[in-house]
Amino acid sequence: MSKALSDTLAAVPLPALMIDGTERIVAANAAVRVLIGQGIEGRNYVTMLRQPAVIDAVEAVLRDSRPREAQYLANDGVQDTTFQVTVRVVADHKAIMLCFLDVTHVEQAGQMRRDFVANVSHELRTPLTALMGFIETLRGPARDDAAARDRFLDIMEGEAGRMNRLVGDLLSLSRVEGDERVRPRDTVNLTDILSSVLRTLTPLADEAGVTFDQAFGAPSVDMVGDADQLMQVFTNLIENAIKYGASGGRVTVQIDRARRDPALRVPGVRVHVIDYGAGIDSIHLPRLTERFYRADSHRNRALGGTGLGLAIVKHIINRHRGRLRIDSTLGQGTQFTVILPVQAPTQTDAG
Ligand code: ADP
Repeated sequence: MSKALSDTLAAVPLPALMIDGTERIVAANAAVRVLIGQGIEGRNYVTMLRQPAVIDAVEAVLRDSRPREAQYLANDGVQDTTFQVTVRVVADHKAIMLCFLDVTHVEQAGQMRRDFVANVSHELRTPLTALMGFIETLRGPARDDAAARDRFLDIMEGEAGRMNRLVGDLLSLSRVEGDERVRPRDTVNLTDILSSVLRTLTPLADEAGVTFDQAFGAPSVDMVGDADQLMQVFTNLIENAIKYGASGGRVTVQIDRARRDPALRVPGVRVHVIDYGAGIDSIHLPRLTERFYRADSHRNRALGGTGLGLAIVKHIINRHRGRLRIDSTLGQGTQFTVILPVQAPTQTDAG
């Protein structure tokens, strides 16, 4: 085995190996040994690489010297990983080199994008199908029935409203995701924000038979944040508490301060939004902030939810370098806790 070849491969920042004309692995770097196994040098490549796609590519390159690519599937002990393997002849034609590029994240991103498009299409299609059905009915059987027409128009208005909310939430989500890395700069007053959200939501609460308990304490809290986005976080959480926790008749909104928050390790503020309603089964909790995830999809669609509210909440909290905690007991209620740092970002962590 040539030391020059091994030294060259050691400088390649990817798992890489070389195979010579006798089909033996003549050099391998440390990264490829982790991937494929120790002691692969000197062995026949077929017995070491094992996967037909890669073996075929190597055979073809040994035959005609034209570069090839193949996929190599592995498992890093936690998850399946996918590598794009390039198979190329090295300049002197005495060996070919294989480089393994980990494309797992690219594949995952592609899958997420496909899932997202499928979800959005599905969510839009349901109200759209209803609208088309009612238009048909209004043109045909219900043409001269004034009472039915009014009823159908009401339903159509509801369905159009749902599509409108969905599009609004999608735009909001994409905006929030877009500036997640840009840290907020303004100083805002959290107590004022919460008071304003509660004022805005009072009619909704009245309609649902819910009263607010507010315990903001004193003095009021100034912090670095984006007022519109924080308003959106608490609107979504308190609206959910009213919608899903109405049976409890009461929603508590509370602020606590800590000189050093244990979760953030900096001065922090915690806002608790507590309802005393049906609660959420613990199996749903880890996935609740995923886009379009609903704990009880039928009931929640009927309540007009888009399934995007908590995804938006999570992104905004991330932008503020905060945390979201969800605790719930079935039959007793749910507590959402937003933990936010109050101090201005320092020079070092801004960079
Ligand atoms: P939606 O638009 O459906 O309300 P969200 O992202 O705001 O979507 O919430 C996701 C799901 O979490 C809801 O569909 C609901 O099942 C559940 N959920 C959220 N808040 C509460 C709550 N306070 N009590 C019970 N379930 C809740």
